[in-house]
Amino acid sequence: MKDATMCNFIRAMRNCSVVEGGPSYEGKDLRLQTVPWCAACHSRPTKGLLCCASCRTAWYCNSTCQKAHYKSHKEICVTVARNLNILDEQAELLRNAEEAYFETQIGAFGRYHPTLIYMGALKDVVKSLVRAAQASEMQCVWERAFDYTLELQRLDVLAPLDSQALTAFILLNLHRDDDAFDFIRSWMQTDLTGHETARELAMRHDGIQKGEWFFPREKNSRYLNMFEVCPNVDYRSVPVAFLVVLLVIKCRLVAAYDATCKSIDLALATTDGQRIQEVKELVTDMLINKKLMNIVSQRKQVVWLVNAIHGNNAIMLPAILNPEPLLEKYSREGTQDQAAEAFFTLFYGVPCLIRIPGVEAMLEQRFGKKPFYTL
Ligand SMILES: [Zn+2]
Ligand SMILES: [Zn+2]
Repeated sequence: MKDATMCNFIRAMRNCSVVEGGPSYEGKDLRLQTVPWCAACHSRPTKGLLCCASCRTAWYCNSTCQKAHYKSHKEICVTVARNLNILDEQAELLRNAEEAYFETQIGAFGRYHPTLIYMGALKDVVKSLVRAAQASEMQCVWERAFDYTLELQRLDVLAPLDSQALTAFILLNLHRDDDAFDFIRSWMQTDLTGHETARELAMRHDGIQKGEWFFPREKNSRYLNMFEVCPNVDYRSVPVAFLVVLLVIKCRLVAAYDATCKSIDLALATTDGQRIQEVKELVTDMLINKKLMNIVSQRKQVVWLVNAIHGNNAIMLPAILNPEPLLEKYSREGTQDQAAEAFFTLFYGVPCLIRIPGVEAMLEQRFGKKPFYTL
């Protein structure tokens, strides 16, 4: 499982880190493109863009731009198209099987051999679409990856951990932080060792339509403290990828808060008058909902999460600042356990984290500029 593209992507990631939060930071990834752009020259011509017919994850001004970009697009393009074909073939096989799996076994696809093969194909589609989305930075490609990952969750109540983590990472890329929080909370609150067996869980999935969001949903849940909401969870048993998702959510809140305060200061610095302090309070109240945002608690949660991640996997956070030792080992012999977990999270989850203003500086302060770690 050696993959040079993944390693190169991780190497390039730190170039995307943001040191200083501009006053406009709103807790969102500034690179996400809501309007399609040309994958080659990044322009947005008014007469519309052409879509790559084989993968439909890249857009171009014209065939010249498409040709210029094909060398770097080829691998993604071929993989996405191939994985979608395989998925179609597997779906066809399932539809022709004696058992009507798509009607009778929703939620239980992890239990049978033919459906497990289908799930594997589905996961490959999600992974290749995530790579396409990382390359194009386009919202609609992330949304496509999300549709498939949601289907994966619907078909298998006990979807493997890595596909659950992928779902949460995709949600973060789409700025659906409340849903990401709720998704992880629902995982934390499911007691698989208790009376709630896989069969009972699968029954709950019966009747859920394709494309339907079926996890409990709470508005503004991202402001909640997971440690208070799920007090009985032992954090040493929570997957590092999930803790990283929570860290992204919390760091976005803190960075957005700091950016808002800074912009208020900036705006008022150019205004003279005696009531500045009063106005400042008023404006702050208007811009920051203090009922939701207890900034002291949010900052504490960031520290707590950093400690929890480092306690569970001592490679994870240092590898963000100094990925080389991990990448070298991965390219040489592949990795297992903590190193594999760190590599997976570094590729799929950390891009969101490192693009939050101030996060890199915060990690450097804690671990040093180029931290050493043992593999
Ligand atoms: Zn172009
Ligand atoms: Zn393509």
